[in-house]
Amino acid sequence: MTPLRSLLLSRSTVDRDGERRTRPDLLAELWAEDATRVLRVRPDGSAPVRARDGGGSTLDLVAPRAVAPAPPEDSPVVYLGREEDGTAHVAVEVPDDQDVADGAGWPVAPGGEQWQGLRTLAPDLDDRDAGLLVEAVGVLNWHRVHPCCPRCGARTSITSAGWTRACRVDGSEHYPRTDPAVIMAVVDPDDRVLLAHNAMWPEGRYSALAGFVEPGEPLEAAVRREVLEEVGVVVGDVVYRGSQPWPFPASLMLGFTASATTSEIRVDDVEIAAARWFSRAELAAAVTSGEVLLPPPTSIALRLVESWYREEAGEELPGRPGW
Ligand SMILES: [Zn+2]
Repeated sequence: MTPLRSLLLSRSTVDRDGERRTRPDLLAELWAEDATRVLRVRPDGSAPVRARDGGGSTLDLVAPRAVAPAPPEDSPVVYLGREEDGTAHVAVEVPDDQDVADGAGWPVAPGGEQWQGLRTLAPDLDDRDAGLLVEAVGVLNWHRVHPCCPRCGARTSITSAGWTRACRVDGSEHYPRTDPAVIMAVVDPDDRVLLAHNAMWPEGRYSALAGFVEPGEPLEAAVRREVLEEVGVVVGDVVYRGSQPWPFPASLMLGFTASATTSEIRVDDVEIAAARWFSRAELAAAVTSGEVLLPPPTSIALRLVESWYREEAGEELPGRPGW
């Protein structure tokens, strides 16, 4: 079983350059530099884009002074890293049009720009832009919901070029969170794949099972526990296939292929409304007829299912571009 390659949200070309984050005046220096590129992100995770020559989209990155003379106090500015040619990138969170603050925040961007979210945009971006936006959305999500110290409740200040927050009272330091989640293609001894329909999803949407890793739990145990809880199937061997950040708001998806040792399905009726085993022929027919809608191309779920399909069939699922 081979590793999953070219996951859309796992791409990057920019060096995160962690060493420079500790320089006290780094952000002020970068803001004064016209060559610095600023990635603006709204609270909903969308960013301004332009059409790219030759197809696709490119992030509309601008010079700092095109955004504001100086960043507003206490507003997150994050150093994302630099490209091989030395170009430095920073990310800032700017308000929605309708969410204009009292004049103390960022000026509202001029109209006419097209803003798009990562989920729909990712397939259209090149590797550099995909990496920049995933990194920016992930760390800005953390800043937005962690303004205070978890120990004493006091306000925290942004430090390390946007990569830590320090308590103003007790001095404790806090780091951006990433929550590990497992996602798995469960395959039975007859080489059928298990796909499930979540009660919250549009009708017909089937995908791989997934769930958060609990404290003190190894990944393999999380895979077995989630599958047992959600569909009542017992899993034996678990093989790791690859990972992809999923900053909606803070997950890291860890993809597995899991071998079932039982076939009987008993759905939990809480999260999972239906689950089915599919042979390759059954899945191809259900996708072609429109009975089953597979998850979007940005997801690791689709890549796990496609990989299982391709392994034996030697061809792509109907309607899929191949990777
Ligand atoms: Zn504190």
